[in-house]
Amino acid sequence: MSDAPTPAPSTVGATYVEPSATELLEPGRKIGDLLHRNVTQPYVLQRLSERAWWVQASNYGTVFYIGDDSVLVLDALEGVYDNVTQAVASVTEKPITAVVYPHYHADHIGDIAKYVDAAEARGKPLRIIGSEKTRQSMERANSSFPRPTDVLDWPHDRFEFEGATIELHGFEWAAHTDDHAAWLLTEDRIIHSSDLINPDQPPFWRFAGNER
Ligand SMILES: [Zn+2]
Repeated sequence: MSDAPTPAPSTVGATYVEPSATELLEPGRKIGDLLHRNVTQPYVLQRLSERAWWVQASNYGTVFYIGDDSVLVLDALEGVYDNVTQAVASVTEKPITAVVYPHYHADHIGDIAKYVDAAEARGKPLRIIGSEKTRQSMERANSSFPRPTDVLDWPHDRFEFEGATIELHGFEWAAHTDDHAAWLLTEDRIIHSSDLINPDQPPFWRFAGNER
């Protein structure tokens, strides 16, 4: 028996399911009991497509994509490197060779040194993908983190990762930050756009505060 309180009904009429690292999440379904899972499990892992998984730890989520030879991570979340890499290692032995900076905030970049060190230990520098706007925002903020190695044009650009195309879609009006964007795994039709809407919260409530 669980001590978890009965969850509130979905605000969007979703059906709740158990997370699965092997079965795809159907449209209209959401992972149940997410808050409780975040405080009791090292990570929550859900398969989204043939090659993409969503992972959340301590209420911070990211998406990773397994290419032919290595792994791309769409958000270098701060403080959960061990959780994310454990989740990746639970479904593939391939190394992480590329990481996206979704925007310049430290809580989405903060663990980058660990990814950099792991890649260098394997003898190949980490590929860090970010937008020109994020590079500028890092300069303006005197960010101590390494700058992107692959700088994409703002507000629209794309990059290739082992056959997959990932599109950058910067927001016309600032949303969350000036450099905030949606990152689209084009073939898999999966978007990663952090800090806009939290799972099971009404949009724009509390943390994910956005004017528009
Ligand atoms: Zn942020």
